[in-house]
Amino acid sequence: AEFTVLCCGGGNAAQVATGLFAVRYKTIAVSFFADEAAKWKDALGDAEFELTTPGGGVMKSKPKDITNDPSVAKDADLILLVVPSFAHGEYFEKFAPYMKPGTIVATMPARSGGDILFASKLGDKAKDMIFCGFETLPWACRFTEWGKKATILGTKNNILAAVTPVSATKKALAKLQGLLGVNPQVLESPNNLGISLRNPGMIVHPGVMYGRWSPESWDGNPKDEAPLFYQGVDDFTETVLTGMTDEVQLLCRKMEEVAQGLDMKDACTLKQWYLDCYDGQMKDTSSLKACMNTNAAYDGLKHPCKEVDGKFMPDLKYRYLAEDIPTGLCFAKGLAEIVGLETPTIDKVMKWGQECIGLEIMVDGKMTGKDLAKTRAPQGMGITTLEASWSNLVAVLGH
Ligand code: NAD
Repeated sequence: AEFTVLCCGGGNAAQVATGLFAVRYKTIAVSFFADEAAKWKDALGDAEFELTTPGGGVMKSKPKDITNDPSVAKDADLILLVVPSFAHGEYFEKFAPYMKPGTIVATMPARSGGDILFASKLGDKAKDMIFCGFETLPWACRFTEWGKKATILGTKNNILAAVTPVSATKKALAKLQGLLGVNPQVLESPNNLGISLRNPGMIVHPGVMYGRWSPESWDGNPKDEAPLFYQGVDDFTETVLTGMTDEVQLLCRKMEEVAQGLDMKDACTLKQWYLDCYDGQMKDTSSLKACMNTNAAYDGLKHPCKEVDGKFMPDLKYRYLAEDIPTGLCFAKGLAEIVGLETPTIDKVMKWGQECIGLEIMVDGKMTGKDLAKTRAPQGMGITTLEASWSNLVAVLGH
């Protein structure tokens, strides 16, 4: 049968990916979000989807279908999720009964703990499937006419991806490279734990929000303007970010100790991540703060705010907290707790952040809150001790 790709989601990234893949492959767009699939199908009608590439060229293509029917997974060879990570679980769960052995399921970006979530949602079937986590989205992109036209503003040169089980890496990454085209170049990362702990969003987003809006630095009064997000990183915020990234580094060293031979080379510090990803775009790389303040790619980006009577209040429910705490920071904090590592800076940010997003995750510094199952904390996915679950954890890590 013809190689079949499911492209999941309906936002900027999913529309771009669908437009790109449908040029060369039988592609079915799937969205489970509200009535998005029907609306998209309607909007496109008989027309072709138009994708404008950075050089100005226009690619036209037509997905085979746009649907909310999970049974299309029965014919899928490759399923790509290009939705915010809080939605991943729903796709895994709904596709699970239909998926055939050997299906490649990739998440873009994976955020943290995606492989463990996949294993927990797929149950016995997980061992017959191939999971791939991408560190980020390869494109900066926006739709220009919803459902009909979109633009790729820029494409990354390289993008890291890890495969579980590791034995399927070559096969899976070759397929994914074929799908993405020449750019970005997909680089092999040793394991999904490395992708999980590399996740820059889990540090940057909650850390910068805390640095600007927690009671430690803000009096609660509206601001005349929405502050700059990256260029506005000050010394205090830098100490928060450094505290968090250093704690994650301690966790990496601890994991290497517990799991002999585990390669955590890609789970680098936040500063190293900037050097890897934005080389040449930062005027000053002497410190983490300088990297963030002088990165041209971040020019003018502001804090998420709401306007109230001409002044600005922070949007403390924005995805910088609502996505990056549950599917990022919770994974790191939960794993740290399992291996007995203290994470005072992460704890302080979590404690403040969970209240902002109305979740009870951590209680008295422990991962025991009632909303734990809504997060990617290993504890929320049924993993609470190394002894009880180490073989399982090692299996999902691909060892
Ligand atoms: P988006 O905000 O356009 O995605 C919206 C889509 O998410 C919706 O169309 C729907 O399909 C899904 N969705 C929203 N709320 C939902 C809910 N409650 N339940 C289920 N599904 C829901 O985001 P995007 O721009 O397409 O980006 C996707 C991911 O890629 C995000 O994690 C984003 O952080 C990341 N990313 C995007 C860019 C970019 O340039 N667009 C760049 C880097 C990273």
